[in-house]
Amino acid sequence: NTALDTALFTAWIEETARTVAAEKDWLTALDAAIGDADHGANLDRGLTAVATALAAGEPGTPGPLLVLVGNTLIRKVGGASGPLYGTAFREAGKALGDTPEVSVAQLHAALEAGLAGIRKLGSAAEGDKTMVDALAPAVRALEQAVQDGKDPAEAIGAAAEAARVGAEATIPMQARKGRASYLGPRSVGHEDPGAASTALILSALHTVTA
Ligand code: ADP
Ligand code: MG
Ligand code: MG
Repeated sequence: NTALDTALFTAWIEETARTVAAEKDWLTALDAAIGDADHGANLDRGLTAVATALAAGEPGTPGPLLVLVGNTLIRKVGGASGPLYGTAFREAGKALGDTPEVSVAQLHAALEAGLAGIRKLGSAAEGDKTMVDALAPAVRALEQAVQDGKDPAEAIGAAAEAARVGAEATIPMQARKGRASYLGPRSVGHEDPGAASTALILSALHTVTA
C-alpha cells in the first residue's frame, strides 16, 4: 500500500516534469491547432524552474511542497496556464496543511480545492473545452474511489483514466474560454492542450503510485 508522503509527492512532480518534457512537442502541436503553439514550452519552462526551486530547498511536507510548485508556476509560466495551474497547485497545497502523510480522501479534497481555484480564476464550466474538462471528472472519480474504499494506487489510477477520457472528450467541443474561443466553430475537432496536460499530470501521479 503506497504511502502518499513527501517522497511520493516529490516523485510526482519530478515525473510530471519528465512527462511534460517528453510530450512537449505534442502539447505544442495541440496548441498550434487552436491556440498560439506555446503550451508545451510554457509548462516545460515552469517545471524546469520548479526542479531548480526544489533542488534549492525542498519543503518537508506535501502541502508546502505543492504551494512552492504553484508559486513557481505562477512566476515562471506566462499565458493562461501559468496562473491557472499555479493557483491549482497552491490551493491544493493549502488544503493539505502540514500533514506528513496524505490519505486518498485528503488528496481528493486537495484536488477539489485546486479545481475550485481554477474555476474561480478562469470561470470555465465543464464543456467549455479547457483543463476543467479533464480535472473535474478526475476529481469525481477520486471521490467515488474514496467511497468505494479503494487503495491509493487504484484510486489515482481511476482519476488518471477519467482525466484522459475527459481530455479526449474535448475534441468535439467548441471552445468558450481562452485563446481557442477566438476560433469559434473552428476550434471543434482538436483536443484541448490544457486538458491534455492535466491528463499527463494525473498520469504522472499514477505512474509514481502504481
Ligand atoms: P495561452 O493560451 O495563454 O498561450 P497556454 O497555451 O499555456 O496559455 O494554455 C492554454 C490552455 O489553458 C488551454 O488549452 C485551456 O485548457 C486553458 N485555459 C485557457 N483559458 C482558460 C480558462 N478561462 N479556464 C480554464 N482553463 C483555461
Ligand atoms: Mg498557448
Ligand atoms: Mg501563449
